Amino acid sequence: MISEKFEQLLDQKGLKKTKVRKALIKHFMKMNHAQSYNDLQSALVVEIDKSTLYRNLTSFENAGIIHRINDHSGITKYAFGESPDKGSEHAHFVCETCKTVYCIESLDIIQLNVPKGFKTKNVQTIVRGICADC
Ligand SMILES: [Zn+2]
Ligand SMILES: [Zn+2]
Repeated sequence: MISEKFEQLLDQKGLKKTKVRKALIKHFMKMNHAQSYNDLQSALVVEIDKSTLYRNLTSFENAGIIHRINDHSGITKYAFGESPDKGSEHAHFVCETCKTVYCIESLDIIQLNVPKGFKTKNVQTIVRGICADC
C-alpha cells in the first residue's frame, strides 16, 4: 500500500512523519512528472506556508527523496527520486507546449569529448520536444 511505502521512506531517511511531509511525499510518488513550487502548493490539501514548504523540500532533497531540476525556465522543479548527479543517471524531457518536465530513465551515460585538461563533474541532460498529452 502506498501509505506504508511513503511512511517507510520517511523512517528510512530519519525524517519525522509530519502531516506536511506525508502529504508531500505522497504527492511526489503519485505524479509522473516534475512539480514546481506552485504545483505543490495548489496540489496539497494541507495548509502550508512558503517557508515550511521550502524547508521540507530542502530536507527531502538532502535525504535524496527528491531532486531539483533546472530546465532553464527560471522555475525550479522537483521530482521524486535521486538526483542524476548522485548516481541515479537520467535525463529530463521538457515539453515545449505544456512546459511539463519528465524524468526519463535508462539513458546511456553521455560521453563528452571535453578538451584536454577539462574535468567533467556532472552532465545535466535536457531533452526538448512534445509530450504525449500535447
Ligand atoms: Zn506537453
Ligand atoms: Zn529527474
